[in-house]
Amino acid sequence: MSSELVIVYHRQPYEEVEENGKTVLRENKSPNGIVPTLKSFFGSVNHGSWVAWKLADDLENPGFAQKIEIDDDYGQYTVSRLPLTSAQVKEFYHVTSKEAFWPILHSFKERYNYDPVDWANFRDVNRRFAEAAAAEAAEGALVWVHDYNLWLVPGYLRSMRPDVRIAFFHHTPFPSADVFNVLPWRKEIVASLLACDDVGFHIPRFAANFVSVVQSLFDADIVSRERVPDKWITDGTALTERSVPTRISYDGHEVSVSYTPLGVDTDFIDARANQPEVHEAAKAIRDEMGDQQLILSVGRTDYTKGGVEQLASFERVLEAEPDLHGKVRLMHVSVSANRNMRAYEEIQNEIEQAAGRINGRFGSFEWQPITLISRAIPFADLIAYYQAADVAWITPLADGMNLVCKEFVASRVDDDGVLVLSEFAGAAVELGDAVIANPFSHRAMDHAILQAIRMPGDERRGRMAKLREAVRSNDVRAWGPGRLKVTNVRPIAAE
Ligand code: UDP
Repeated sequence: MSSELVIVYHRQPYEEVEENGKTVLRENKSPNGIVPTLKSFFGSVNHGSWVAWKLADDLENPGFAQKIEIDDDYGQYTVSRLPLTSAQVKEFYHVTSKEAFWPILHSFKERYNYDPVDWANFRDVNRRFAEAAAAEAAEGALVWVHDYNLWLVPGYLRSMRPDVRIAFFHHTPFPSADVFNVLPWRKEIVASLLACDDVGFHIPRFAANFVSVVQSLFDADIVSRERVPDKWITDGTALTERSVPTRISYDGHEVSVSYTPLGVDTDFIDARANQPEVHEAAKAIRDEMGDQQLILSVGRTDYTKGGVEQLASFERVLEAEPDLHGKVRLMHVSVSANRNMRAYEEIQNEIEQAAGRINGRFGSFEWQPITLISRAIPFADLIAYYQAADVAWITPLADGMNLVCKEFVASRVDDDGVLVLSEFAGAAVELGDAVIANPFSHRAMDHAILQAIRMPGDERRGRMAKLREAVRSNDVRAWGPGRLKVTNVRPIAAE
């Protein structure tokens, strides 16, 4: 089958579960909304393909059909499942991507682990993804490649299929040249990205960083540059950029560099948020809180999410402000998505220890300052917590976008609630009406949460009205691969 749109994303677009001895496909329940968003693009083409990996013991005889045809609410598409052994997955994903690339992308040079990387394996896996994509793409098709673990796919694909259009989207931050160039494979990675027609990022700063990395490594020229629209400028915050290169040329080939901040499906969240059972669930949470304020923090367990720093701020605030004892409660949801990886286990332990220490220090029989939740909360329940919360406290040290803060705002059909947001989350360039906090500064963190707790009602509602407008005006339907935008995104049905 030849497809007009080929999405290359490392995970399959559904989960396979065993039921009565048969394998059935289920909507992906991973706490990451990107899969349904990507699938929704199949609604605007006659036929699409999705390339992902699937675990196999034996690459020659994987024991499953490499291609399956899906016809679901999103459209008709082929899923091309690339067999990979568990050793290959560990090397390319858990080691090279998570231990070497992830810390660099988030500017944590000190966490970068070069030694265990098997670069030949990374190349091999990426080349195989490119072959699978080349086999799916119709003449002139758009191949849309996602994220850093597939950085070498565009280069291989271009040599196999000069006719296709290639777009690449980074879901993470992209660091400055000082940090990116720590990677010894920097030239090979950037050369591959330069084989694209469009290289995409969430926000202007990451696009600008990419261009400066390109210019540090290659003799490339900037062809055009544009001013960033006012709606994506939050004065004085760390990630704001006022003008960015939008086209570069290298070796006779032009590449567009785009930024499209990912939004949430505001219609879907609005419909959910207005359901009576959600209001009842939110009311039950509020009733249980009595006159205490609920502060909600939600994220994956990851050093980039700033959970440890946030708990330390909460501890300082409780120490300095005894009048808050018995009056505020922090619900800290920290979902462990990467079990068995040392860096993530360490953070999980640190979070558990900090929460235990704070509860031990300040708690009483009647009052526990922190409720720590380490499992994923289904979105249907999460939305009730978003509604019940007085404050959402979202302070990553680095984050490509952060959807949780936008979901919180979209859920507040009551036009109330305070968002405290890190200036190092990509979303901060759009959400300047949040209480913007610098998670690297104790004073700024402590001040921001106190400001949120004590904010008068009219200021809360005034800020929330503006935040809701910002989130609605950049809904998920506005998102797509730059000038190669695929239109008519279908409503997202999944949670
Ligand atoms: N999420 C969830 N249940 C949880 C925690 C998170 O469903 O207990 C979802 C959340 O609604 C959001 C996604 O996980 O859609 C996290 O996306 P975000 O961009 O904030 O962070 P990421 O994990 O992609 O870095």
